[in-house]
Amino acid sequence: MRFGIEGRIAVVCGASRGIGYAVAEQLVQEGARVVMVSRDVNAVGRAAARLAEAHGVEVHAVAADLAVADGPSRVIEEVHARYGGADLLITNTGGPKTGSALGHDWDAWQGATELLLRSAVQLARGFVPGMQQRGWGRVVGITSIAVKQPVASLVLSNALRAGVTGFFRTLADEVAKDGVTVNTVLPGYTATERLEELAQATSSRTGAEVAAVYDGWRAVTPAGRLGKPEEVAAMITFLCSEPAAFITGQAMCVDGGAGRSLL
Ligand code: NAD
Repeated sequence: MRFGIEGRIAVVCGASRGIGYAVAEQLVQEGARVVMVSRDVNAVGRAAARLAEAHGVEVHAVAADLAVADGPSRVIEEVHARYGGADLLITNTGGPKTGSALGHDWDAWQGATELLLRSAVQLARGFVPGMQQRGWGRVVGITSIAVKQPVASLVLSNALRAGVTGFFRTLADEVAKDGVTVNTVLPGYTATERLEELAQATSSRTGAEVAAVYDGWRAVTPAGRLGKPEEVAAMITFLCSEPAAFITGQAMCVDGGAGRSLL
């Protein structure tokens, strides 16, 4: 199958490592012109240089903290100044802090709202109108299996990613007639540095060995293993493709069967 996105401008957020990096790499392999966004200037610069060298293409890096209002604004300004807009937008950041339902003060809720929801809203507001004008666009929000079923001690993710999903589902309806699709992808337990951090936090909270935490995640995943970042990225890359033009408003799990809902 040909994905048909050669030359398209792709903004990939949270791209210095993990799932975001894997998405950036696959989009580069499909011939898209990729802008990698991440918080840490050195990390995102190194990641872009690694992809550029491996694939012999130009990969632009933008350092921006998407958890503060200036961050998405800087990305929007820089991409418009350099490319005139974006055809593909992948929203993604690190996950929020762990904690129980009553365990966070409002500052923590506010911070997580800005990280997860505001960043997605601001980036969509910055890039989607241009996609509509050009009659073509793809937006994919990376959320979590937490949208289908709550994950223990991750109330900020459980609550706010539902809001992100509601935002994107509404946007999908409003822009479908303009050739712009909007979908979300829900990773299950995927082997990245974020998951290692969660394993350490779970171990500290429960007293379980880190290895036992991983065993628990494998046990609730029918595939019997963790996912790979490239496996989540493959779904996102497909949703960015030309053949995926009739798929919009969907929330796609890539979780080895871990989500227990029928639909
Ligand atoms: P990760 O922590 O390994 O990578 C996150 C990326 O986002 C990094 O490049 C980091 O620099 C960047 N980032 C973090 N905070 C940022 C900020 N404020 N501004 C800009 N960039 C920022 O995460 P991952 O495992 O690749 O997961 C990606 C997303 O998917 C996260 O939101 C995570 O919570 C979610 N998720 C992951 C899993 C999993 O098992 N790995 C499962 C469900 C959901």
